[in-house]
Amino acid sequence: MGTVESTSTLTPSGRSITVSLPGWPGNIAGQHVDVRLTAPDGYQAVRSYSIASVGPAELVELAVDKLPTGEVSPYLVDDVQPGDMLELRGPLGGWFVWKPEQTGPVQLIAGGSGVVPLVSMVRSHTASGSDAPFRMLYSVRTPDDVFYREELAGSGVQVDYVYTRAVPAGWPTGPGRLTKDRLAASVFPVSETPAFFVCGPTAFVEAVATWLVELGYPAETIKTERFGG
Ligand SMILES: Cc1cc2nc3c(=O)[nH]c(=O)nc-3n(C[C@H](O)[C@H](O)[C@H](O)COP(=O)(O)OP(=O)(O)OC[C@H]3O[C@@H](n4cnc5c(N)ncnc54)[C@H](O)[C@@H]3O)c2cc1C
Repeated sequence: MGTVESTSTLTPSGRSITVSLPGWPGNIAGQHVDVRLTAPDGYQAVRSYSIASVGPAELVELAVDKLPTGEVSPYLVDDVQPGDMLELRGPLGGWFVWKPEQTGPVQLIAGGSGVVPLVSMVRSHTASGSDAPFRMLYSVRTPDDVFYREELAGSGVQVDYVYTRAVPAGWPTGPGRLTKDRLAASVFPVSETPAFFVCGPTAFVEAVATWLVELGYPAETIKTERFGG
């Protein structure tokens, strides 16, 4: 059981929640927790949430985007208050992770809230002083929906945005979904043998992974995490 320490608005539909977890063993960038909610009548719902924070601290940061018709995310975004108890299990997952001892180029590709574990990787990269070249491609509905924009801008990691529904003033193109051509133009070339971390809604992740293989990147260099949808 953890105690909600603080919450912070990230976007109109997104909120970060920092939970104090005494005895937390720490986490590697990319891992997640399972959050279990229990209603007064005993009904339970469990959902996975990536950990935005990284390292040994007992304060664990989650970042949740609200699906208006969802069961769990509206509660986490609209209702949870500091002092509330949250049941968390984790850290979970040992495959979709980046560790500072990995020195090769890393290409992060996010769809929507799929950016959360990738933010953790950027934080780990910064905290460790890693020299590994990092680059991010971030597909998001509108400029207002970007999670952690300022932090990403200050991280030194090149972030390429694809806006699917509305673009900032002066943006060179109109809104539109990521295409294979745009993907090819926004990632490290095959010759640099990047390691890929692709995360977001299932359809987005599957399209990106398929295109990457078609573009000549070896399948075993592409790690994916599907958020559902
Ligand atoms: C390993 C892992 C890590 C995750 N990390 C995060 C995270 O850091 N932040 C975060 O906001 N979410 C994350 N998710 C998604 C999260 O677990 C829930 O699926 C999401 O919050 C919706 O839950 P809900 O109960 O509100 O909606 P539900 O009641 O479960 O679903 C409502 C409807 O929305 C659809 N749906 C579910 N997920 C998505 C989606 N991502 N996009 C579009 N439609 C969807 C469902 O198919 C359903 O039709 C993660 C999922 C996994 C598997």
